[in-house]
Amino acid sequence: MAEITPMMRQYFNIKEQNSDCILFFRLGDFYEMFGDDALTASRELDLTLTTRDRRNENPDERIPMCGVPHHSAEAYIGRLIAKGYRVAICEQVEDPAEAKGLVDRDVVRVITPGTRIESSMLDEGVSNYLCAVCAGEDGSAACFAELSTGELGVSFYPAGDDSRLLNDLGAFMPAEAVVSSEATDAFTAFLTDKLDCLVQRSDALFEYDHTVDTICAWFSVDSPETLGLTGSKQAVRAVGALLEYLKNTQKTDLSHINRLLVNSGGAFMELDIQTLRSMELVAAQRTGEKKGSLLWVLDKTKTPMGRRLLRSWVLRPLVSTVEIKRRLDAVEDLYANTVARSELLRALRDVGDIERIIGRIVYGTANSRDLKALEYSVKALPSVLALLEPMQSSLISKLKTTDPLTDVERVIRETIEDDPPFSVREGGMIRTGVSEEVDRLRALLRDSTGAMAEIEAAERARTGKKLKVGYNKVFGYYIEIPRSSSETVPDNYIRKQTLANCERFITQELKELETTLLGAKDRLAALEYEVFTDLRDRLAANVGRVQATSRAAATIDALCSLAETAVKNNFAKPEIDVSGVLDIRDGRHPVVEVMQTDALFVPNDAYMDTDSARTLIITGPNMAGKSTYMRQTALIVLLAQMGSFVPARSAQIGLVDRVFTRIGASDDLSAGKSTFMVEMTEVAEILHGATAKSLILLDEIGRGTSTYDGMAIARAVLEHCTDKKRLGAKTLFSTHYHELTAIENEIAGVKNFSISAKKRGGDIIFLRKIVPGGADDSYGIEVAGLAGVPASVIRRAKAELARLEQSGSAAPIAAQPTQDDGGQLSLTDVGGGEIARTLQKTQLDTLTPIEALNLLFELKKKAEDQ
Ligand code: ADP
Ligand code: MG
Repeated sequence: MAEITPMMRQYFNIKEQNSDCILFFRLGDFYEMFGDDALTASRELDLTLTTRDRRNENPDERIPMCGVPHHSAEAYIGRLIAKGYRVAICEQVEDPAEAKGLVDRDVVRVITPGTRIESSMLDEGVSNYLCAVCAGEDGSAACFAELSTGELGVSFYPAGDDSRLLNDLGAFMPAEAVVSSEATDAFTAFLTDKLDCLVQRSDALFEYDHTVDTICAWFSVDSPETLGLTGSKQAVRAVGALLEYLKNTQKTDLSHINRLLVNSGGAFMELDIQTLRSMELVAAQRTGEKKGSLLWVLDKTKTPMGRRLLRSWVLRPLVSTVEIKRRLDAVEDLYANTVARSELLRALRDVGDIERIIGRIVYGTANSRDLKALEYSVKALPSVLALLEPMQSSLISKLKTTDPLTDVERVIRETIEDDPPFSVREGGMIRTGVSEEVDRLRALLRDSTGAMAEIEAAERARTGKKLKVGYNKVFGYYIEIPRSSSETVPDNYIRKQTLANCERFITQELKELETTLLGAKDRLAALEYEVFTDLRDRLAANVGRVQATSRAAATIDALCSLAETAVKNNFAKPEIDVSGVLDIRDGRHPVVEVMQTDALFVPNDAYMDTDSARTLIITGPNMAGKSTYMRQTALIVLLAQMGSFVPARSAQIGLVDRVFTRIGASDDLSAGKSTFMVEMTEVAEILHGATAKSLILLDEIGRGTSTYDGMAIARAVLEHCTDKKRLGAKTLFSTHYHELTAIENEIAGVKNFSISAKKRGGDIIFLRKIVPGGADDSYGIEVAGLAGVPASVIRRAKAELARLEQSGSAAPIAAQPTQDDGGQLSLTDVGGGEIARTLQKTQLDTLTPIEALNLLFELKKKAEDQ
């Protein structure tokens, strides 16, 4: 193999230490990638692939190479990260001009999905979490960090209960996870398959003693217990591992991560990932987009941190009446103060992403424009706070006392120019009057520019030639004379360059001036940078204050958003209690009512309690609105527990501890891969996880298997949910097995409801109203007709239906033998003989659809009459 150069040796050394990353190796103005990295990057980023040593005779030994200019590297890095790669940035860590031999290089930062801070790589409305998860005999723990904002929290869970951990992961949706090796495969599969999270296993990071040291050093405490990390060794391991990982990859000041929230459980409503997705809380299921989700309806926030906060409220509803009422009262304040609210919404528009800006300030990547953005944001705060003045609710009263950071605003305003350049290295950003030296150098530069003009004038006068003073990077300042008159020049002119129609000269005087000028320019730029970084450091020292104010601004913004939605979408303040009663009057589906523009949304009541109306069985034809009704009920509960007003005329909400949903397999086609097995796994999870205080939505479960199986399972699950000795949870149960309505008479606490539809001729009209009582029919064939299935097929289906019903092979499964069947009659019991005879006589092939319907109508009437 051909000899490798010292630089390539340096490259290979660094690459070896960062083998799990794509190494961006700084060479002059470029980042270069070599070998496999180059192959990957050229493929993923559409970069031209070249080779390093083109002179090597053997093409197989040539090292593939590609590169990106350093000034546009961020966009390329962002794309690689989004595709799940990790990128190590290797810089020249000494000045090439001063290096003896090879320039020293080192990795200054590793960028990964969970450690992105660049605004170009992040969605401003979504928090980007990194997490560390570990488990042991005493339980498990997960630590979450948001590097761009400094948020850090840890939750721990008792042994044997993985579901809470998985639910938290589902709510935080981390982009990246570091996990200890005790984590099971099922767990990592959840992270990678369900959450599309980049997972890395490590045990070294989780070594207990080491994590204790890391935590103590990070927070300057003697023991992790000082931070509230008591009672869980796993929590200590998770926090320590996460901090260590950040330290190893970021290699810079991370003092914006200065608070640890310890969540020992119980503060938020847990939502499992199925429920979270099928309720479309933050993303529509079909598209994966925010549009069409609950958050999309609620989000009228004006600031990025408000947007992130509201999203977290939606993902983590509350379970304490006190907390919920605090939010609701604040929303009510803003709801009632129309003028203040609209002015707040306007004022908040001027507030930028304070939380991420202060993060970048501490991190050391903020430029002077970021500082200006902070200044303008802070400047808007006093008027925001003043607008809250008339409001009295406890949460708003507390928000009124927010630190307006006037000193922060002033110091930036007084130091940084109004429209500073993007680069912090080229000067032009510090105001006059801030630094005497800056002012002096600027005056010098101004004078020298004047001096240059003076030289030009003087030389013109002296020589009588049409000369001018110019500048280029190679020769510096020069005197340029047209070729026609450049033969004779004064003695002190030194000829430097001959061009087609002019010649260029320098003089001693010009050189001296140039030295002062360029020296002054460099010094000025360096000095301005120093003033800037000094200011940035001073601001960084205020990180805690700025973060606190940012949190307050986010809260005001999120509350305003909820109030504005309440007004615009006609929501009402719910009554919250612990009665176990849900009493919703004229409830609506918050998203469907907005999305559906062609028809008015029909409101419906819902009443459930822990006693006589524990379980509602909802029947009705396909497309009647069963799923919509069940979801709106659950969404109203979730909204209320987020502290939001609800789409109803009135609502009394007895708190629930959890909401569970399962949508039957064949209804869940959007997920693309739902099978009966998945459906049953999820039903199992619900039956294990729910309590008497839960609200369960079972939407046509048991569809993915044969009729008998399906009906049997549906019935057994329903019995389990409703039985007080087993679950006794509030359950909304929709089914197309209208035979199951018989249960109403068999189990106390079960009530039948149906969504009414009317047949008119061959058509079916949906009334969208929920009414007591079960549906008499599935109307499946009518709906098929409505959907455009050819008339001949519909005719055939009707005949087949009649045959099946007559022969009894689709008869309802027998009620439990000990119980009375409550007088429910089946088709085969009544007038079966006559109906069968009529059918046998009928020539199906000659019937028109209308005649068929009329016939069916008659037959049905016969059945009912008897
Ligand atoms: P089902 O579950 O009974 O098959 P869906 O709940 O999916 O029916 O409802 C079908 C469609 O009917 C919805 O997409 C919606 O457009 C409309 N719909 C449902 N409920 C209402 C309502 N209360 N008012 C107006 N339109 C409704
Ligand atoms: Mg449905």
